[in-house]
Amino acid sequence: MPDTSSSQIKLAVVGAGPGGYAAAFFAADLGMNVTLIDPEVHPGGVCLYRGCIPSKALLHVAKLIEEAQQAKNWGIDFPAPAIDVARLRSFKEGVVNKLTGGVGQLAKVRKVRYVQGKAALENSTTLLVSKASGENETISFDKIILATGSRPAIIPTLKIDSPRMMDSTAALNLEDIPGSLLVVGGGYIGLELGSVYAALGTRVTVVEMLSGLLPGADRDLVLPLHKRLEKMFEAILLNTTVSSIREESNGLRATFEGPSVKEPEKVFDRVLVSVGRKPNSEISGLDKTQVQVGARGFIQVNKQLQTNDPAIYAIGDVVGEPMLAHKASHEGRVAVEAIAGHKVAFEPHAIPAVVFTDPEVAWAGLTETQAEKENREIKVAKFPWGASGRAITIDRPEGMTKLLVDPKTERVLGVGIVGAGAGELIAEGVLAVEMAALASDVAMSIHPHPTLSETVMEAAEVFYGTSTHVYRPKRG
Ligand SMILES: Cc1cc2nc3c(=O)[nH]c(=O)nc-3n(C[C@H](O)[C@H](O)[C@H](O)COP(=O)(O)OP(=O)(O)OC[C@H]3O[C@@H](n4cnc5c(N)ncnc54)[C@H](O)[C@@H]3O)c2cc1C
Repeated sequence: MPDTSSSQIKLAVVGAGPGGYAAAFFAADLGMNVTLIDPEVHPGGVCLYRGCIPSKALLHVAKLIEEAQQAKNWGIDFPAPAIDVARLRSFKEGVVNKLTGGVGQLAKVRKVRYVQGKAALENSTTLLVSKASGENETISFDKIILATGSRPAIIPTLKIDSPRMMDSTAALNLEDIPGSLLVVGGGYIGLELGSVYAALGTRVTVVEMLSGLLPGADRDLVLPLHKRLEKMFEAILLNTTVSSIREESNGLRATFEGPSVKEPEKVFDRVLVSVGRKPNSEISGLDKTQVQVGARGFIQVNKQLQTNDPAIYAIGDVVGEPMLAHKASHEGRVAVEAIAGHKVAFEPHAIPAVVFTDPEVAWAGLTETQAEKENREIKVAKFPWGASGRAITIDRPEGMTKLLVDPKTERVLGVGIVGAGAGELIAEGVLAVEMAALASDVAMSIHPHPTLSETVMEAAEVFYGTSTHVYRPKRG
């Protein structure tokens, strides 16, 4: 939808992650004159270069190794895999290059000016760009979108200068397959990367300070994953903190503290610290504008993604949780529409979250944890995958699909899924929540058989007590 009113707008987008490049492309599609600035050769940001994409390429390989091992149960015995780390690395790098190069091409054909460099603010509408070529360029714009993303958080007491210490970026570089790995932090990045290394043969120990993995996710969704990871990992230590890490000749010695610690010290070949991410809001020259940064370092924005400075918008990880690529892209589109003068607001009912472990864990909309916190009355309808034909055919009956339904209106408020391919299945949950579907809409929509998607339909049938494959005796 080219928009003639937008064609006069000169827009700069600082940072070319999934937020920044989606915003830049949409703005160009609306006819704006767009400059996109990022230090990398191509657009892509953390997600494409050192986040979502390389991790999923490696997780794909991990899944294959795991399945080959599971094939024993089906009468097929594969020999132990011979892993060529250099070729695996080049497969992953090939994936990254293909995608970032492709996005670079898309920028070109849209006539987005891509400047490889780092931007500093001179004032609300002027940027000083230090280009990769060594030159500096000062450019003025009508509007600026800040999409500078985030970086791994560090624990100052565990910060030691050792090539054995890794953050997520270093872990994705896959320099070798260590014999043992300590993962500090049981969030999604730690569990995904821990799963990759465990599948490649590393003995993985995960330490989480809180009482469960994936803090914030509903416990019934985490349980099947926890059970499987207990088999894959050497140890999962909950309610435990790593109080110190010391380099020794044969590895890194970690000290553990917590009520259930049995072995207070252990040496590991490598340590991955994955304890969250910090927004990149320390943008040079930000103090020359009216942009405000909150206590946790996030740039403050309104529902149009506009900062306190009318000429400056901000999107993606730098404006807040959830720090996810699809949230960044959507915000980018909303910000561009707001700049174009359209009536728009960022107010989704469902931002899906997916943990790409095996099994996958995914949720969208309201969670039980959140409903409890807010004291909201909900009815939860659960469909166990043990009753799904498809789950049985792929020998993955441990999954579960649940709907959170408003008992009065019967509206679907949230969906949670754990099981193989949950990340793909959750898209239907997003649609149901966003479209304000009733449980009856989901139950009455014919789903293909035999697929895991039927579990969503049958969870809606469970809500009415009439699921074909779940028998619940009537009370009284
Ligand atoms: C290991 C890992 C796995 C992940 N997996 C997933 C996943 O499966 N799904 C998902 O949704 N999310 C995932 N994420 C999170 C996802 O990568 C981020 O949410 C997403 O990249 C945020 O996009 P963004 O556009 O806000 O910023 P980013 O992708 O962080 O990009 C910001 C860009 O801005 C650049 N920049 C910073 N300052 C300047 C400046 N002054 N001038 C110019 N450029 C600047 C940075 O160099 C960077 O290239 C993962 C992250 C990690 C680390």
